[in-house]
Amino acid sequence: MTTVIGLASWHSRGSRLSQSFRLCRRTLFTVLALESSADDTCAAVVTSSRQILSNIVVKQHDLHEGFGGIHPTVAIEAHQRNMPGAVRRALEDAKLMMQDVDGIAFTRGPGIGGCLSVGSNAAKSLAAALNKPLVGVHHMQAHALTPLLTAPVDQTPEFPFLTLLISGGHTLLLLATSKTSFEILATTADESVGRSFDKVARMLGLSWGTKGPGAALEDFCRKDTGDVPNVGSFPVPMPGKLAFSYSCLHSSIERYLASTQVPLTEGHRVALARAFQDAAAQQLCEKLTLGLEKLSLRNINPRHVVVSGGVASNLFLRTRLRAALDNYSPNVKIGLVFPPPELCTDNAVMIGWAAMHRFLAGDHDDYSIDLRAKWDISTILDVNSRTPA
Ligand code: ATP
Ligand code: MG
Ligand code: FE
Repeated sequence: MTTVIGLASWHSRGSRLSQSFRLCRRTLFTVLALESSADDTCAAVVTSSRQILSNIVVKQHDLHEGFGGIHPTVAIEAHQRNMPGAVRRALEDAKLMMQDVDGIAFTRGPGIGGCLSVGSNAAKSLAAALNKPLVGVHHMQAHALTPLLTAPVDQTPEFPFLTLLISGGHTLLLLATSKTSFEILATTADESVGRSFDKVARMLGLSWGTKGPGAALEDFCRKDTGDVPNVGSFPVPMPGKLAFSYSCLHSSIERYLASTQVPLTEGHRVALARAFQDAAAQQLCEKLTLGLEKLSLRNINPRHVVVSGGVASNLFLRTRLRAALDNYSPNVKIGLVFPPPELCTDNAVMIGWAAMHRFLAGDHDDYSIDLRAKWDISTILDVNSRTPA
């Protein structure tokens, strides 16, 4: 399956760009990747020729639903229980033995420290025991680079591209100028868009189901209940400013509920869910367009926009973003690229892929590499170069 020739120098980690590695005649590089930064226990195998050989995601929604959000201790214990089986299944699905894997990648940060440590310790121990190269990956960089793996070749985003990362912990608008260089154009002033979906789903009493609260809210908005009252609309905060705010939006819904006689009819709840989803999407569209305008003043006109992270699996939002880009640039079509919905939410495929360029360059981390529970995406290169190899 893998044909990597002459990897004799892997254990000589003193040289970051191992000369002997670069001289190797490589045809395919296979990475086992682990991800455990939040509430999904993930293991996957990907290759340098853009093949996904396996993708295991063990979700924990049923464990956290009663807490109304991710409970860190419960998440850590679940990762500890589930990671060995996830690794086993990822290898079985890929039809590989551990020895066949050429490199091991893991999520170094950002995320919940105790959760990160489960994937990190497993990856480090496997790599050390088998004398394989190891790469620690920035979780949000991995979300951003996923379309370089999944998009059809003729639609692959070209640098510089704009990227909107919308997930449970982040709402980021970035200019990506390379696989490792990201300039933050906007971030959230308070909470993330994903967290606001989660909170509103809870306020409306929606059951998480197997897909989680955000996806449950999206499904609920599609419900045909006949009688849907007009609940008005919710404004976009900080107009004209390159910054997001979502606690403002979920508080408006909270206030609406507090001032309305309960219990609400189902039609009334659907109307409120739709008004929320509409305002959440509107804010992303307006800030994205504003970001493009500001970049244009700097003579930067990206040809592609990449949207990734769990909230990017929302199909209503995808349609709204497409319309916003067409409205902004009616004559020159800006490519809008999303990973497939199942690779928008957390997975280890993206971690393996984000590590690939470093493995191929012979640039890997020491087995004693530390975690970065907090890690600003604009510092990836600095942090990697400060990490002893
Ligand atoms: P981060 O990536 O910031 O570390 P995370 O890893 O917990 O956070 P992801 O798995 O990338 O987050 O995304 C999870 C978030 O996406 C949750 O808030 C979830 O509710 C939201 N989400 C998932 N599917 C949808 C959907 N269809 N519509 C809206 N939100 C969704
Ligand atoms: Mg998650
Ligand atoms: Fe994520």
